[in-house]
Amino acid sequence: MFEVSISKAFSAAHLISNIGGYCEQLHGHNFTVEVTVAGKQLNPEGLLIDFRDLKKRLNDILDTLDHQYLNETEAFRVVSPSAENIAQHIFSLLNQTMTDGNTFVRRVDVWESDNAKASFVADP
Ligand SMILES: [Zn+2]
Repeated sequence: MFEVSISKAFSAAHLISNIGGYCEQLHGHNFTVEVTVAGKQLNPEGLLIDFRDLKKRLNDILDTLDHQYLNETEAFRVVSPSAENIAQHIFSLLNQTMTDGNTFVRRVDVWESDNAKASFVADP
């Protein structure tokens, strides 16, 4: 199995309204997102997926989140915009673009800070 990973940052604000009964203040993060794509076959050029192609797909998704108040976006109007749910959201949208029957999204990691990340990982 081959894997390819890229990362990209975006900036957004969110509010998690109930963390153990505690309501935090509206605040922002410079989120870093790392996506890992996997697959068994390489193309004739020896690539699992072209980095430029994968970057464009990720950019298209992050453009919908960058500089937004996440709680007011379509994706997070009902679902809490936690790092965990952001990872699942990106995973779902990116995986929908993997239509070649070979590549699939293995995992999405979302860092809220240098030392705190949440992940959504494909079922084994
Ligand atoms: Zn936060």
